[in-house]
Amino acid sequence: MDKIKKIYEEKINLLSKYNKFYYEKSEPKVSDQQYDILKNEIFLLENKYKFLRSKNSPSKIVGHKPSKNFKKFQHRVSMLSLSNAFSEEDLKNFEKRILNFLSENQEFKILYSAEPKIDGISASLTYKNGKFERGLSRGDGKEGEDITSNLATIKDIPKKILDKDFPRDIDIRGEVFIKNSDFESIKEKFANPRNAASGCLRQKNPEDTKKMPLNFIAYTFGFEQGLKQKNQSEYLKKLDEWGFKTNPLNKTISGIKNLIQNYKNVEQQRTNLDFDIDGIVYKINNFELQKRLGNVANAPRWAIAHKFSSNKAISKILDIDIQIGRTGALTPVAKIKPINIGGVLVSNATLHNEDEIKRKDIRIGDTVTVERAGDVIPHILSVDFNKRPKKSAKFIFPNKCPSCGSKTEKEFNKVTKKIDAVRRCSSEGYFCDKISIEKLKHFVSKEAFNIEGLGKKIIEEFWKLKFIKFPQDIFKLDYQKIEKLDGWGSLSVENLKYSINQKKNIALERLIYALGIRHIGLENAKLLSKHFLSFLKFKNLSVTENYDDLLNIDGIGETQVSSIKSFFANEINLKVLDELGKILVIKNVIAKQQNGLLKSKSFLVTGKLNGISRAEVKSLIEENSGNTVSTVSNKLNYLIVGDKPTRRKVESANKLKIKIINQEEFLKMLNKTS
Ligand code: NAD
Repeated sequence: MDKIKKIYEEKINLLSKYNKFYYEKSEPKVSDQQYDILKNEIFLLENKYKFLRSKNSPSKIVGHKPSKNFKKFQHRVSMLSLSNAFSEEDLKNFEKRILNFLSENQEFKILYSAEPKIDGISASLTYKNGKFERGLSRGDGKEGEDITSNLATIKDIPKKILDKDFPRDIDIRGEVFIKNSDFESIKEKFANPRNAASGCLRQKNPEDTKKMPLNFIAYTFGFEQGLKQKNQSEYLKKLDEWGFKTNPLNKTISGIKNLIQNYKNVEQQRTNLDFDIDGIVYKINNFELQKRLGNVANAPRWAIAHKFSSNKAISKILDIDIQIGRTGALTPVAKIKPINIGGVLVSNATLHNEDEIKRKDIRIGDTVTVERAGDVIPHILSVDFNKRPKKSAKFIFPNKCPSCGSKTEKEFNKVTKKIDAVRRCSSEGYFCDKISIEKLKHFVSKEAFNIEGLGKKIIEEFWKLKFIKFPQDIFKLDYQKIEKLDGWGSLSVENLKYSINQKKNIALERLIYALGIRHIGLENAKLLSKHFLSFLKFKNLSVTENYDDLLNIDGIGETQVSSIKSFFANEINLKVLDELGKILVIKNVIAKQQNGLLKSKSFLVTGKLNGISRAEVKSLIEENSGNTVSTVSNKLNYLIVGDKPTRRKVESANKLKIKIINQEEFLKMLNKTS
């Protein structure tokens, strides 16, 4: 029981943390899909174990408490959330519950207002005698943030309404949002238009809000005195007359079948809309019935949000791009009309390879269903052939590399005895620009040279500026030129220079890995370095041509050897090796010390260390006769703690009385300093 309670409370706490980031900071920690999975796990636990209860349960709360940055204000009528439906079944149950509650039978015809659910931020605008007086955010539903001045900057919000029909006192409620086309210019700062709207609306200085392209669509009301309309569709019509914008896709519908049809139609139109919607809200049209039905804890009983799938959406292929990887693999990527899938704006979807395009007959201009499940790269699930434009042509996969023009080919895989699905650029070494850039990115990557401050973006920038073409150029950079570039200063240049110079000392295995020879990953690079022992012997392979010897290394097979052969057969690669040999101090492989300083001691690292990667620490430990383990247990002697360690690891180490040391103390054990 206690264990279940603990799991439940952990989940509730995690959800509260996500809420804080999402609602207060407009910076979601996880995607909506992950958030909804957690929410569902909580519901499942609550259903199974009735004793689980929390005032912070997602079945009870709305949003998040107002931020301290704003004055708080009580809503005169609570601002609630909406229950969700994901299937026809859910909708049927919703209608059944309503009929039961109203004591009506199946014959009773319910009319719904079906309104696209704009994915923005709700706001409540108080008008007294036609004058806009106060605007609140939803907050936790009971109290909102007073964002009157910010809301007043939005053009769609009328400041004075003279219409004689306009109620003398009313809270007009609706959604503040940013159009997709406006989001384009600020997309670097926010995950999606909803987060952007939330961030922009809740700026401390209204002048900052004013600069943002915010819009407002009205759809409901809170407190009211003098409202004459008897149902939602009449009310929506009136909102228009009073000068508010309403959603042009609002409809009045009855019957579940018709609701589903409308849902499908709107989902098809979704990519063509200039605002983000994440479902359709169905509301009982009649206000009298709404009043009778009332609310559950955090949502009205008379409305439901029929959500679009959080991992699938319909979009259109605008283009097919061919990306070229470090090993020459050509990967087709569909450029799609941006679509929000579970809170993430997706504009690229992988098409995997040539065979996949052929198999699914995917073409430019096609309407497709895109799936984004978990952290997997989005991909095309299916094509809607009915929507295919008349003049569409089959996609022809390039038989020449789009970057260097070399022939592209599919290899025969000796292991599977099949022709590879992947087509590759046949050039070797640094002939192809795209491959070269990827090779350089690999060269500086974490497991290879691990050059801090020289990430992928900077490699691309330096390449474009012709500062680097080959790996050796990294060590010959003209720092004076870099200092003159935008975004660089003397301090950042000094830091870069320092980290590059520091990495001139390198272990042989890391250098071999960094060269990016196909099929030579970290483990194989280690095996090769143990075999050759020195850089010179490795480099001499081009002269000795003792390739067959390599087959004796346990773990190295024909595939690897043939790849090493083609690497050494390439003149440019040999030149790169020569140049690197002149610049670098390449540590020969030292046979593992039997009686090193760390003999019979085991280590585990948690958190980020300063200027030294995990792989480096591991080889340092191994060189000195120590060993590394992957979990905290009685077998561990030392936990090395860096920046932002995993709390649980430190706690377990404390419990087991395992010695906890920092980087400095670790290096001291080796008579070194950082
Ligand atoms: P909700 O956004 O699903 O539904 C309620 C809201 O719908 C209302 O407050 C209103 O703003 C809006 N709405 C739009 N059009 C409407 C219309 N015509 N009529 C009535 N309301 C309309 O519910 P919620 O409780 O605000 O938020 C839950 C959603 O937020 C989930 O999808 C969840 O994934 C996401 N979320 C994500 C994170 C995260 O960390 N990623 C954290 C919290 C919440």
